[in-house]
Amino acid sequence: MEGFGFQVEVKRTDRKKSASIALVGTLVKISVPKGLTDSLIRDLIIKRSPWIKKKLREQSLRPTFKPKKYVNGETVHYLGEDYCLQVVAGDQASIQIVDRYLVVTVLHCEKDEEQRVRLLLEGWYQGQAFLKLKERTESFTKIIGVTPKSVKVKNYKSRWGSCSISGEITYNWRIVLAPHRVIDYVVVHELCHLLEHNHSARYWRHVEQYAPDWKICRKWLRHHQQMLGIGN
Ligand SMILES: [Zn+2]
Repeated sequence: MEGFGFQVEVKRTDRKKSASIALVGTLVKISVPKGLTDSLIRDLIIKRSPWIKKKLREQSLRPTFKPKKYVNGETVHYLGEDYCLQVVAGDQASIQIVDRYLVVTVLHCEKDEEQRVRLLLEGWYQGQAFLKLKERTESFTKIIGVTPKSVKVKNYKSRWGSCSISGEITYNWRIVLAPHRVIDYVVVHELCHLLEHNHSARYWRHVEQYAPDWKICRKWLRHHQQMLGIGN
């Protein structure tokens, strides 16, 4: 169906008693009961078009996230800063930060270079994450007056960290991509679970005390989930 200023795909189905509209990218998919006539469908689209246009507008304003390519010139993140990835070949694999560049050296003549770069980089991030998070945890441990049983980093797919009942704290290594204040918030969040093993008002009062900007940090995390490779 045409003439609405957006692309529409109509599906008639037996299983539907009423119409439903869904946006798949910029395509507007409409499912309607089988008997609905074209003109009634048109009326329906016209009636719902302010909503559809609003959704399409919101969608176009949202940044689109392309999967990372581990090649020269890609933007990579570390401690809240953007770096330009530079891949060079050498005799020894290594990773270095030089000015605004994150230089990944891979061995000569390797196949699947992009994959090698990704693995090297992730391994490096995990090592850096462990050092950084351990250091921040130790310093907040003294301030808050709690003692975690252990501190680890892990490859979580959908969370920033966890604190077990017995006091083992595990962080997502990806948090090392975030700015320092956000890292501190995640550390405070987990350490405060040693005081309150829940998300009660009392718990958030503890968090507020040690990370007064926790709301901003939480919002930052929510907005950058995809950039950090969470919840994809
Ligand atoms: Zn929590």
